[in-house]
Amino acid sequence: MMHLISDSGPAEMPGFRLTGLQSWITRPAEVENGFARIKPCLLIRLTAADGTIGWGEAYVLPCREAAVARIIHELGRELAALACPDPWHLRDLATRLSLRHHSMDFAAATSALDIALWDLIGRLVAKPLVELLGRPNCRDAAVYANIWSESNWSAAALAARAKHLVAAGYRAIKIHPMLNHDASQAVEAVRRVRGVIGADHRLMVDMDSETDPGISRAVAKGILPAAPHWFEEPADGADIAALAELRGEVGIPLVTGERQSGVAHFRSVLALRAADILNPDIAGVGGLLDMLEISVLADRHGVRISPHCWNSMTVAASAMMHVCAAIPNAEMAEIYPEYLEHGERYAVNGFTVQNSVATLNGRPGLGVEINEAALSALSMQHDSSDLSAARAAS
Ligand SMILES: [Mg+2]
Repeated sequence: MMHLISDSGPAEMPGFRLTGLQSWITRPAEVENGFARIKPCLLIRLTAADGTIGWGEAYVLPCREAAVARIIHELGRELAALACPDPWHLRDLATRLSLRHHSMDFAAATSALDIALWDLIGRLVAKPLVELLGRPNCRDAAVYANIWSESNWSAAALAARAKHLVAAGYRAIKIHPMLNHDASQAVEAVRRVRGVIGADHRLMVDMDSETDPGISRAVAKGILPAAPHWFEEPADGADIAALAELRGEVGIPLVTGERQSGVAHFRSVLALRAADILNPDIAGVGGLLDMLEISVLADRHGVRISPHCWNSMTVAASAMMHVCAAIPNAEMAEIYPEYLEHGERYAVNGFTVQNSVATLNGRPGLGVEINEAALSALSMQHDSSDLSAARAAS
């Protein structure tokens, strides 16, 4: 018999049977500030036999959204065929079916189902997820604003965007100075942004898996006067040796993990002391159980968790906030401010953000309510699987 994680001792897992699975892929959208655009997002809804639902979300990249949705529906049928379709058995199922071939897309599909199961279980037992994770009195998680732009931005425009977000209450800002720019332009951009946000706010620099360690060293040296709070992926996340070497040289806390899935990778990062902070994405790493295990391992090494979240800012972000509120070594969770506004078009979120703090709303599960008509109107693909039929056929 499986048990929930609880502060007051294990509680019996409620029995349930899955009968339905739906998925939506939202259309890309422009935002008014012209600085970034909203990517397609993949949301799912599981339905149990008694009508209880659970929302999940997968991390998706361009051209793969429909493929990840297909994996979710295939995996969902396998999940529904289990006698106990809970997160622990989903994890075992995914490990068996993947034959330990690690892939972000498969891990993202697993994450979506895992998040949906936790939401469903929370609704069944009428408890917020953070309470299921053993921290009933925790509601808050520190957050930072990420400034992402595909455009050929100027340092002045980047600084203006940072100034706007600080004025909106964010106390920590992350920028990607190497996107569409060279090393000297990147250093200038960091200097300009520090100049407008002042010394009291955190400024994080993301190198987006820079392939040339010489460039990462040069940028690190150039931005030291701007006192960056962290230096993210100055080498590919899979190149643990390069990250460990750079960490020993640059003198700025190093972040990695957003492109990786599976606990084994993170164990190696920790063993080689290649990071000060890990940033797995809850919708891509494999799910909550992987996220929690990575958090525990990191904590033993004095390493913090600042989850990546390039997702809708509704379902996956709510799951991330519950985990950050529950674990002892959460630093700051990632917010895409433009996505928050877009999410309000179809969702009542599981948290609100004020002064760089996300506060959970205390509702059962993730605390997210989705207006399905509004979500469908914003979506370019909507698929449905009858899981009760899949179960009967298995
Ligand atoms: Mg990054």
